[in-house]
Amino acid sequence: MQITQNLWQVAGPELTSPEDAAAYLVRLGPAAALIDAGCGEAIRDLLANIGRALPPEVPVTHLLLTHCHFDHSGGAEAVRGHLGCRIVAHQLDAAFLEAGDSAATAASWYGRRMTPLRIDLKIEGPQQAIPVGHGEIQAYHCPGHSPGSLVFTVDIDGQKILFGQDIHGPLHPSLRSNRTDYLRSL
Ligand SMILES: [Zn+2]
Repeated sequence: MQITQNLWQVAGPELTSPEDAAAYLVRLGPAAALIDAGCGEAIRDLLANIGRALPPEVPVTHLLLTHCHFDHSGGAEAVRGHLGCRIVAHQLDAAFLEAGDSAATAASWYGRRMTPLRIDLKIEGPQQAIPVGHGEIQAYHCPGHSPGSLVFTVDIDGQKILFGQDIHGPLHPSLRSNRTDYLRSL
C-alpha cells in the first residue's frame, strides 16, 4: 500500500498475516530501509510487496526494528537471509533478541519460541542517525512498552514521517514495561 511517493506499508493484518504488526518500506534514492519485519508467517507475501514497490536495482540495506516483540521481529532472520540487509535494534531489546528470550519478546504470547537473532547494529544513545541511500533515518530511544523501544523519523516527500509503532503500549511485566519511562516517552 503506497502512502507517499517513497513510503509503503508492506506488512500488516490486511496485507500479509493476521499476526503481523505493520511494516513499512522507506526509499531514500538508491537504497531503502524496512521498518519492522512482521512475525515471519508470510515472508513470501512480504518480499513480494517489497518487490512490487522497489525496482530490482534498489537494495534494502537496513531492517530497522522498533522493538523486540515477535509480531515485529519474528520475520527478521528470514528477511536478512533473502535481502542481505543489516538488522538494527536498540541494545536493550537486542539483548532479548540475541538471547532468544521468548517471554520478553512476547513470542510466547503467540505460542511460539524466539530463535536467537543476531543484531548487526545496536543503538546505544538517546538518538542516532542511520545513513540509508541518499539520506538518513533518525532513531530515538523511547522506552516504556519495552526497555529498548525505538521511534524512527525520516524526512521524505516534503514531510517528516514518524514511525511510533507500539509506543502506545500495552504495558505488561513480562514485557519489562515501565510506566514512568512510557509516560516520558509519550
Ligand atoms: Zn510490542
